Amino acid sequence: MRAGGVQYPFKIRIDRSALATIFDHVGAPFERIGLLMGWFDGDALWITSAIRGDSQWNGDPKYYSALSPEFLAKVADAILSGRIPGRIVGWYHSHVGQGVFMSDIDLQTHLRLAQFSPYVVSMVIDSKTFEYAIFSLSPNGSLVEVRPESIEIV
Ligand SMILES: [Zn+2]
Repeated sequence: MRAGGVQYPFKIRIDRSALATIFDHVGAPFERIGLLMGWFDGDALWITSAIRGDSQWNGDPKYYSALSPEFLAKVADAILSGRIPGRIVGWYHSHVGQGVFMSDIDLQTHLRLAQFSPYVVSMVIDSKTFEYAIFSLSPNGSLVEVRPESIEIV
């Protein structure tokens, strides 16, 4: 199916070392957040690296980490100047023991990142169980979980 030039559904290939970076980063008793970097090759979305967000926990148990506009601008600038390879293809964040799902705030973050690529994905990791899921927007604009068989770790 095609929607606005986006081939859907698409496969996702995650580099093993990117996944290790993410799991290492989210191994904390509070939410953590970061960016997924890579590119789309016409068939699959490659996630080749991850950039840790710069948020610091403030001790509030209801703390919600966010990708600040300053952080996004810094990364976008580093991409333009060639200091970071690839482009922003999504983001990841952890839920501490609440399971993997997309909250309303998560959806807003997803939509904000869609300015960088039509193939933006959201990865949610439960940092207690290390269960994870990847979500993307379907052609009708609703958020769907990418089927596990479409995700390949390379
Ligand atoms: Zn969330």
